[in-house]
Amino acid sequence: MVLLRFAPSPTGALHLGGLRTALYNYLYARKLGGKWILRIEDTDATRTVPGAVDGIRDALEWAGLEYDYGPGKEGPHAPYFQSERLDLYQSYAHKLLDRGHAYRCFCSPDTLAATRERLARTGSNSTYDKACLHLTEEEVARRVRAGEKSVVRLNDGRLPTRSTPPDLVFKYLKDAHASLPTDPVLLKSDLFPTYHLASVVDDHEMGITHVVRGEEWLPSLPLHLDLYACLSLPPPLFAHLPLLLNPDGSKMSKRKGDVQVLDYQRRGWEPGAILNWLALAGWGIQHEEVSSSSSSSLSTAGKQAPDSTAVMTLPDMVEAFDLSVITHRRSVLDPVKLEYLNKHHLMRVMESKDGFRTLAERAHVRVKEHFPDSQYTTVPYLMHVISTLQGRIMNLNDISTLAPYFFVEPDLTTDEALKMWKSLPAGQYTLVVQNLSQRLDVEGENWDSLHFADILHEEMSKIGIKLKDYMTILRHALTGMKAGPGISDILLVLGHERSMERLRKAQT
Ligand code: GLU
Repeated sequence: MVLLRFAPSPTGALHLGGLRTALYNYLYARKLGGKWILRIEDTDATRTVPGAVDGIRDALEWAGLEYDYGPGKEGPHAPYFQSERLDLYQSYAHKLLDRGHAYRCFCSPDTLAATRERLARTGSNSTYDKACLHLTEEEVARRVRAGEKSVVRLNDGRLPTRSTPPDLVFKYLKDAHASLPTDPVLLKSDLFPTYHLASVVDDHEMGITHVVRGEEWLPSLPLHLDLYACLSLPPPLFAHLPLLLNPDGSKMSKRKGDVQVLDYQRRGWEPGAILNWLALAGWGIQHEEVSSSSSSSLSTAGKQAPDSTAVMTLPDMVEAFDLSVITHRRSVLDPVKLEYLNKHHLMRVMESKDGFRTLAERAHVRVKEHFPDSQYTTVPYLMHVISTLQGRIMNLNDISTLAPYFFVEPDLTTDEALKMWKSLPAGQYTLVVQNLSQRLDVEGENWDSLHFADILHEEMSKIGIKLKDYMTILRHALTGMKAGPGISDILLVLGHERSMERLRKAQT
């Protein structure tokens, strides 16, 4: 059975890169009818941040990426925290020691620092002089018995030949041994494994068939393949996902604070739109290339990635997912594309009654934060507001800034309102609002069944004013803003009482 894993280290909040990796694991597992695991790689206690695991789980839940096995779920591969699997790593380290593929190193941090300096002075690329490789068996046994601290290092001078399977995305591997430290440490003196040993052991023990992870781990792949070879284990298949970039080509960075999933959640983005955005970035194929008749060089055997702006739900993504069209080119996450996708996801969610209600409930929380004293924030009212603003809302957070007049009295002292006022033909303002207010006073009883478009048209003709001026005056009086939905829709949402009050006020 196909089994994948998402293996974050709990060193902080989940960021977009991590979410993209989780998404691809999810998509690939679902596509192949397999399962995926959430595995917590917490072997470096100094970097573990309290609460990070909960944060990662919450972010995955928000995004709708449900894992099959992992923390909080029973499963055949438990435990899912590496810190609870230490015996396993030690037993594998012993196997490597027994086979002569690893050795104990007793050098202290000071000795190692001095060695590194000395090697650097001689122009060597090595980071360690392998001093402990030459200790006799008796010497090692004596020092272990004496309780001396040691680490277990890979003996990179004694590696079996490995047949290197290509990475599924990057296709080839440079021999990255030069960039790896000499005889890398596999087991630390506190008996915790380093990432490399733990990752290989767990991927094997858990029966992982496909490792899908970020490009930053590509340089570790040769070492991992060596470990599989030393342990005579068949490696899984590997697919490394290209780095995510900002539109200006800069790396998305944790430091700039623009990458945390939680921030996107707070800023009102739809989880479905974020996943869609990440999926397309990874597919990494440009629109022109997709539509060009000479089939793209990135597509194989007639397969093509979806259009770079295709609006897709998670099931659509599973359907369209195809690892073979993923490019190794670095993927740009364009915020403009996110706006476009978000708008469409909002419209899609609104098509279902339950989805629409959930959306209005989320909007309620945000609008309440903006206008704590407003009494016009009930969920049914917000559903009316949202459907009126449909097509204009890019993001759920926009509601408060796009149409504050639905929640509080319009502010006619803003620069925008004053500028509008000045652009209007003198003397007609009072006439327009007075006239409409008189008409609605008479007919306003059955507000919800009025044909406002006809009424407005008739009154405008009576006055003999230009359509644009007529509507601008009413928009000013009712909203104080120069753009928004049609006046009829605004009157319907505001209702009889509030509309009349605004028209009355505008006459004074
Ligand atoms: N623990 C690594 C990280 O947090 C993941 C490495 C892997 O997937 O092999 O990025």
